[in-house]
Order: sequence, then structure tokens, then C-alpha cells
Amino acid sequence: MAFLAERLLNIKPSPTVAVVTLAKELELAGRDVINLGPGEPDFDTPAHILDACNKAMEQGKTRYGTPAGVLELRQAICEKLKRDNGLIYTPDQVSVGSGGKQIIFNAMAATLTTGDEVIIPAPYWVSYPDLTSLFEGVPVYVDCPAEENFKLTPQQLRSAITKKTKWLILNSPSNPTGVAYTVEELRDLAEVLLEPSNQHVWIMTDDIYEFIVYDGFKVKSIAQIEPKLYDRTLTLNGFSKAYCMTGWRLGYAAGPSELIKAMNMIQSQAATSTTTFVQWAGIEALNGDHAFITENNQAYQTRRDLVVDRLNKIEGLDCLTPVGAFYVYPSCAGLIGKKTPAGKTIENDEDFVTFLLETESVVCVHGAAFGLSPHFRISYATDIDTLEEGCNRIRRACNSLSQ
Ligand code: PLP
Repeated sequence: MAFLAERLLNIKPSPTVAVVTLAKELELAGRDVINLGPGEPDFDTPAHILDACNKAMEQGKTRYGTPAGVLELRQAICEKLKRDNGLIYTPDQVSVGSGGKQIIFNAMAATLTTGDEVIIPAPYWVSYPDLTSLFEGVPVYVDCPAEENFKLTPQQLRSAITKKTKWLILNSPSNPTGVAYTVEELRDLAEVLLEPSNQHVWIMTDDIYEFIVYDGFKVKSIAQIEPKLYDRTLTLNGFSKAYCMTGWRLGYAAGPSELIKAMNMIQSQAATSTTTFVQWAGIEALNGDHAFITENNQAYQTRRDLVVDRLNKIEGLDCLTPVGAFYVYPSCAGLIGKKTPAGKTIENDEDFVTFLLETESVVCVHGAAFGLSPHFRISYATDIDTLEEGCNRIRRACNSLSQ
């Protein structure tokens, strides 16, 4: 349509949002759906956070806020970054937005000029490429296969950097794989970024799953490991995952004040401010009781163990055990080329998840959506019974395939 901007041709709707919408439609149509698609906790937002929001509304915190975010929230974010990440920021280095996604949108809008390159290790969270392309940046994908634990190596990073590189995006623990970088791995990547020819590369570190970790894994952020990168790092985080606040739409980033100022200017024109009373709930989330995070993680870990065990018992599937987030990203390479009972050949991971949906009403997301095939993503942010039933149905579907 001539009326729409040409750059929209570079982007597509979020495939994960599309899968969740499809699952809801199927449920409404009466199908007995096992939905392993959603990237959100199945736990409710804790009561003390709801109370803080109600109190804020009663106290009249219902008016426009400042684009950067409520000062008290930005102060709480600075305390959090110091306490949990050893990173020292002042409130003028923090920008609050309506979710981590909007913060990335603002950061890309503030920094990308046509042709700027953004290094995106694949598999990646689905929005990184589209938010890059929307602002006429060029996503530079680097395949990080299961044999490399889905992680970027220093050699790969070095070869991906060009004079046009603006950002490297790191996401640890990762959506869709759940893997996280160790301190040594981050140090090795930092070394490459510190090389004289790579000083122009900025790092966007998406730490949104930092608290959802298992087996005692401790997540570190790159600027914490290498303080020399502090001036080139945008540390991004949000409330959706660990605090079970997906629908509240609250996220933030901390970084150099010039960048933050530009992001705030965009926010002032795009939204004026993030919802004021939601920001007050965010303060309680950061400063209040965190026992629920440990409890939720225990539940996630039990579910992870169940899903990994069940999937690895299915011929043709191969699943790594992740240390964080609430996803697994099994390979379905062993099933490619097989035939369904209806005589259709499974050519790729999209065919495979379509087959699961059509035959067993199991909703997963195909690996191509995350840039690395043949895999598929299962979210285990759902109850054990649903996961058991989901794995049983996947096994039944896989066993029905023939050579
Ligand atoms: N980053 C990653 C890796 C995610 O998985 C998500 C959501 O799925 C986000 C950022 C954005 O989350 P939100 O916009 O809800 O803060």
C-alpha cells in the first residue's frame, strides 16, 4: 500500500506473539490445546506489588510522569544495579520505558543510521532483528549452534565486526535457549571488544532473565566483568519475567547519559512517560520481598528437568539442559526428512511445529523464527500436568513419523 512507509517491508509481526494469538484462537474454537508457546511466567504478580500499585493510585500518582521515569524508580534501579550487578549509575543514566521491548526500540531509534550493523548471535530473541531493520540498521547474524552451547565465540565476534558495526547484542540467560555466558566467556568477548580496531562497537546487554537461573548459576553482566566497557554498554532489564509483570509493561536501561538523554527525548514524543502508578509498583518490585523469585525458580527447575528428560527420550530430538530463563530449544534434526501419517515430508522445523499443532494441538515456536534451525522452542512456564501431557503428545507425534 503506497500510503505505508517503505521501511515496514523490512519487518514482520512478532512470531512469538503470533503463536500465542493462534493458541488462543484454537482454544476459543474448542480445541484441547497444550500451549508451550508463551514467553511469560504462569505465576501471578505478587500481592505486595499489586498493593503498591493500588496505594499509588489512591495517593493520586495518576498523572503524567517525566519521560525518563519517576525519579524514585530510577533511584531504586541505580541501587539495584549496584547491589546485584556492581554497576554504578546515577538516575540521569537511567531511562524507564513500557517494557524492555520499548526500551530497545528507543535505543535503536536513538542510535541507528541507515546501514549501521547490529551483531545478533543466533538463535536470538525475535524482536532484535526487526527493531534493527525498522530503523534501517542491518542485522548481522552469527550462527551459534548447539555444539557451541548456542554461544558466541570470541573468534566469531572478531570476524563479524566491521567498520559499520554499531551494536553487539548479548542476551544472557537467553531467549530462546536458556543458556548463559560464564564470567570467562564474557571476559573473552570483552577482550575482543577492547581491541583497538573495535573501540567503536557498543554493547547492548539484555539481562531480563538474570534472576531466573538454576543450579546456582550466577549471571554477570559484561560491564561488570570489564569496567573498561562501561562507557560503551547499555544495560537493559525489565520487570516482566522475574517479577511476573508482563502485562504491566515496565522496563529500563542504564548507560551513558548522552544516549539515555536521546532515548528520553524519543520517549517524550512517543509516550510522554510510562504509566506512573506502574512505576511505583516497580519500586516495590525492586525493593520489596524477593522470596517469591526463589520459589518460582524451584518450580521452573523441576519443570525444566522433567521436560529435558522427556524430550531426550524421544527418538529424533536432542535437548541441552539450560541454566536459566524458562525455555528449552531442542534440535529436531533427527526428524527432518521423515513422513507424517498423512504422507507429508517434514522438511524443516516449521513443518514440524505445524505437524505438532495439527495432530496433537501442541503449540511450540519453530526455530527459524529465532534464526537457528532445525530447532523449536518450548516454554516451560506452565504447570507440570500440562508439561507432562505436552511431552506425551510430542512423543506420540514423533513416534508416528516414518522414514
Ligand atoms: N528481551 C528478551 C530476551 C525477551 O525475551 C523479552 C520478552 O519476551 C524482552 C526483552 C521484552 O520484555 P518486555 O517488553 O516484556 O519487558
